[in-house]
Amino acid sequence: MEFGLTNTQQMIQSQIRDYVIEHVLGENLEWDDVDFPHDVYNDLIEMGVLGLHLPEEAGGEDFDPVTAGIVYEELGRGDVGLAMLALSENLATKIVWEYGDETHQDVVKRISSGDDHICFALTEPGQGSDAQNLDTTAEPTGNGFVLSGEKTAITGATLADYCLLIARETGSTDDIRGYLVPLDTDGIEVQPYDGAGCEVSGWGQIFLDDVELPASARIGDENAFKMAMRTFDQSRAWIALYTLGAAQQSLDETATYLTEREAMGNPLASYQGPQFEHAEWQTRVDAARLKAYETLWKAGQGEPHTKDAAMTKWYAPEVAVDTVRACLVLHGHYGYSDDFGIGKRLQDVLGQQIADGTPHVQKLIVARETFGREYLSYNR
Ligand SMILES: Cc1cc2nc3c(=O)[nH]c(=O)nc-3n(C[C@H](O)[C@H](O)[C@H](O)COP(=O)(O)OP(=O)(O)OC[C@H]3O[C@@H](n4cnc5c(N)ncnc54)[C@H](O)[C@@H]3O)c2cc1C
Repeated sequence: MEFGLTNTQQMIQSQIRDYVIEHVLGENLEWDDVDFPHDVYNDLIEMGVLGLHLPEEAGGEDFDPVTAGIVYEELGRGDVGLAMLALSENLATKIVWEYGDETHQDVVKRISSGDDHICFALTEPGQGSDAQNLDTTAEPTGNGFVLSGEKTAITGATLADYCLLIARETGSTDDIRGYLVPLDTDGIEVQPYDGAGCEVSGWGQIFLDDVELPASARIGDENAFKMAMRTFDQSRAWIALYTLGAAQQSLDETATYLTEREAMGNPLASYQGPQFEHAEWQTRVDAARLKAYETLWKAGQGEPHTKDAAMTKWYAPEVAVDTVRACLVLHGHYGYSDDFGIGKRLQDVLGQQIADGTPHVQKLIVARETFGREYLSYNR
């Protein structure tokens, strides 16, 4: 069993960590999708963050799942919303590259270099967890499709040029398909969707009113839900890691604060209450991190990891939320103020418990893998 990072992984880790500590932490309190930090995002794109899962010919880094996890963890130290945005673009381009044709792949190259941006739209107002129960339709017209419906809670929608949009293709049997949709197409309206955190991520809604697309917009012939799910097992561990990055940054800041702040004549770090609390959360963060990297290691070995991914997706963001909350309280009134940005971090990690599948849904997957499909309480 090998827990160490390679020299290359250590180099990548310090490159991203140093950058986010200098250019993201603190600065990010002012960011949103209008005051978007294009310079910072472009610097990170230069470092490869939009090509983590793409081959070199696509302008990508072709990182193994663990190395990509290291990048996401460090991005999460800086800003969870930015990490989520990068992950969402990466998942969309990974699917488009793998299942698309040459024209689609040209779009991927523009995204990996930062010239264009993409979002991934599955969720609708009427469904989220029940992700296959789509109302958005793609009606075949003979030489293309007409799309109608609404997508909501979409990361990057207000910043994107393209959307990998999942819809039900009327008339087909196994009929959920993916379409590469330019968001400036007639009949599309994108609106911001105000959230409790992750302001920088460009969270939005996409309205489709009889949107005409050429036949070439469709990505492959496979069920798009299944295409997406193959990627989701790894993305769940990447989400886990960027929430743990945020938790680790909070613990590091709290350790410094506890040694500097005095109460009742002594540094807070000398009292057992704060000491033990810090020790307990650091232990839980370390344990959650191991599960996340184990999941990614299995993915890299080609081993089954669906159950591990579901475990890490419910557990790590919960540990992260609780850790950041504890760190906020250990900072006293400063923690609750905007001075340290811990309140924002708490809101950001909270959203990650829901994104890409809620804790209940993850536990359903763990139960399905443990007991078998016949014991599931739903029939889809
Ligand atoms: C920050 C953020 C970013 C997101 N980005 C994207 C994106 O880029 N693209 C995209 O397509 N979507 C995105 N989403 C949407 C996300 O995938 C959905 O919110 C998520 O799948 C849950 O769906 P829902 O919100 O409709 O909740 P619901 O499905 O309505 O669930 C509500 C509650 O019921 C529980 N529940 C549901 N079904 C069951 C069941 N069978 N058994 C037990 N409990 C159940 C859930 O756990 C949850 O607690 C994002 C969400 C967030 C918060």
